[in-house]
Amino acid sequence: MGSTGSIGRQTLEVAESLDIPVRALSARSNIKLLEEQIRKFKPAVAAVLEQGPAADLKARVRDLDLSIVTGMDGLIDAACVDGAGTVVTAVVGADGLLPTLAATDMGRRIALANKETLVCAGALVMERARQSGAEILPVDSEHSALFQCLRGRHMSEVKNLLLTASGGPFRGKPRAALINATPEMALRHPNWSMGKKVTIDSATMMNKGLEVIEASHLFSVAAQRIKVLDHPESIVHSMVEFSDNSIIAQLACPDMRLPIQYALTYPHREPSLAAGLDLSELSALTFYKPDFDAFPCLALAYETARTGGTACAALNGANEAAVGLFIKGGISFYDIYELVHAAVDNIKNIENPSLEDIIATDESAKRFVFERAGRA
Ligand code: MG
Repeated sequence: MGSTGSIGRQTLEVAESLDIPVRALSARSNIKLLEEQIRKFKPAVAAVLEQGPAADLKARVRDLDLSIVTGMDGLIDAACVDGAGTVVTAVVGADGLLPTLAATDMGRRIALANKETLVCAGALVMERARQSGAEILPVDSEHSALFQCLRGRHMSEVKNLLLTASGGPFRGKPRAALINATPEMALRHPNWSMGKKVTIDSATMMNKGLEVIEASHLFSVAAQRIKVLDHPESIVHSMVEFSDNSIIAQLACPDMRLPIQYALTYPHREPSLAAGLDLSELSALTFYKPDFDAFPCLALAYETARTGGTACAALNGANEAAVGLFIKGGISFYDIYELVHAAVDNIKNIENPSLEDIIATDESAKRFVFERAGRA
């Protein structure tokens, strides 16, 4: 799901290198790249979220035996395609939720790169996975690191999860220096090459906040026990602190193909496309406390995680809308925080929400942001 995005493209590199057959591909609208991928990987199904591009694709691949589906129903069909054991969910934002749930209900392994799914509906998704026996395996590099460090240990022995953060392009800058930060500045990430949405989230550190929420669901650990550490080298991808104060870390060169591959081959390890890590060439690994004043989105995410219910869906939906406005130049850097904070405060929280409550909250949060930003 999301084969033309950054994670999707790297997933296909891994699939090619390990000879993993691809049964379905889905994209939002990048038909040109999707067509190339279809010709190379020969899936049975291709899903295109938007109708216009779906019609274009149909015309372009008339010579192939391929079913083309569209809309959210199409994405769900692709996630449920016959013969797939694993579904990699790498679509951006709340669009990943329904296809992920459908594949979860079928008991498929979910290689989860769409953190929004767990942020919005973590309790629901994890419960449905328990019922169907589906494994939810993280693709996010930090969560993959935690998953690897936790392997074979009992959760009762875990004291804290230590989630590392590159700190993004603005690490070390005080609030005053960031007031006029532009999208161009925010899009220059030092260590990772990622999609635009997650790069902006990394600049505001909302990404790390969403990752705290994601980790709390994946590993059933309260958000207060997930500590964020700035680690500008992005070599230690996260760590687990155990009850005896021993800390176990996972280290590797920053390359998403490694966590993607681990989710596909788990419990096995295979040779990977990622470069080896020569520790003797590293001068230092440094760690710092995050700056909650310059990056208030991080504190807001912790607070929202404590609230529970639909609050995280409101946080996520509002953030998606606000980041979209910021990229278009419509609002300033700290407006992202202000708008998301206001949305979380103003949208009614529903405890033990249904899927419909979650989707409705996502929509009202987005609407709230557009309306408030429009009035300003
Ligand atoms: Mg990450």
